[in-house]
Amino acid sequence: MKYYSLNNKSHQVSFEEAVTNGLAPDKGLYFPIEIPKLPQSFFNSIESLSNTEIAFEIIKPFVGNEIPEKELKQIVSETLSFKFPLVKIEENVFSLELFHGPTMAFKDVGARFMSRCIAYFNREKNQKNVVLVATSGDTGGAVASGFLGVKGVEVVILYPSGKVSDIQEKQLTTLGQNITALQVDGVFDDCQDMVKKAFLDDDLKYKNLTSANSINIARWLPQMFYFFFAYKELKKHNKPLVTSCPSGNFGNICAGIIAKKMGLPIQHFVATTNANDTVPRFLENGKYEPKPSIATISNAMDVGNPSNFVRIQEMYNNDLKEFSNDFSSYTYTDEETKSIMKDIYSKFNYITEPHGAVGYLGLKKELKNYPENIGFFLETAHPIKFLDVVEPILGIKLDIPTQIESVLNKEQKSIKIKTYNELKEYLSK
Ligand SMILES: *Cc1c(COP(=O)(O)O)cnc(C)c1O
Repeated sequence: MKYYSLNNKSHQVSFEEAVTNGLAPDKGLYFPIEIPKLPQSFFNSIESLSNTEIAFEIIKPFVGNEIPEKELKQIVSETLSFKFPLVKIEENVFSLELFHGPTMAFKDVGARFMSRCIAYFNREKNQKNVVLVATSGDTGGAVASGFLGVKGVEVVILYPSGKVSDIQEKQLTTLGQNITALQVDGVFDDCQDMVKKAFLDDDLKYKNLTSANSINIARWLPQMFYFFFAYKELKKHNKPLVTSCPSGNFGNICAGIIAKKMGLPIQHFVATTNANDTVPRFLENGKYEPKPSIATISNAMDVGNPSNFVRIQEMYNNDLKEFSNDFSSYTYTDEETKSIMKDIYSKFNYITEPHGAVGYLGLKKELKNYPENIGFFLETAHPIKFLDVVEPILGIKLDIPTQIESVLNKEQKSIKIKTYNELKEYLSK
């Protein structure tokens, strides 16, 4: 499969180049030149396939012959070394729990897949890649864990000092080996700006910098796997499907839409946001007007200019009407989020964290338009990752899962920086 830059269709590269560059030289996002269609027989017999078999079939055409089947199967199987339970909350409403991986956020899937692809590409090379990533919390931990010990890769994570949760900070700063955490005196946007500047800096070209945010196709594409896993479970109900994704950079929902274009029978998508409502406003008035991000309790979705939205528009040829048939987007306040978290807990004895709760709200709203359908929302992180928010709202004490316990007593190490020059100096070492 070849990938083109969304800024220039004639600039086409291989899967390997797209993964190791992250972004095209003209700063466009990469996009596959075609979206393969899966045969009907695949969907007819999907119940008989394991998660690894399903994922292998889906990702194979996107990788082509650049990774041999045997190795690709191995990569997929290691990526999916944990469960993806679909939990019934109430009649026709399910939670797809994506948080059973090593760092307890869905980003584990993409990070594990991407790191193993890079390891494969570096197997006989002497080159080093530097994965540079800015995080508001979850991405950094998943990338650190996914890339730990991977040959030929150095990971540098920038996080805003004092702005990530204690658990998230532990996950970023305790691994050592090829992972370095830089604690930035500033907010998330400052981290993001420094990373962008580094990618554009000609003095750092020789460093082979790449990103591990969902702009990277190897982080983004595997996120379509779990939409297929949900379908496999829900198929027996014989009802059309709606799904709701709590959305920040819109990587997850964009992967879901690719799955639909490949033939996965999901009738309708809901991108649910917090106060960062650039896309809901776009669907209302047709104007795409990004805004600076607003801080909320679902902070992994505090994104004012979602980077994957251009990919979604590409799939609909910028046709707003066709797009609106398949897609809705709603925005919710922190108050609404807190209130629904309490409701879900008291009515169904189910603990959500703020991102999943926002997803639930959007799903319930959409199901009013599709009363015959069945729906699932993505529960994108384990409540423990947002314990400072979840415990006081629900008035409960959460048990600490083993994945988290194992990092709590480890020693934290990070380097404090303030300016871009300090980052550059570090990278040039
Ligand atoms: C990253 C993240 C999101 C947003 O996902 P996108 O693919 O960027 O839309 C939602 N919830 C949690 C917990 C996250 O970490």
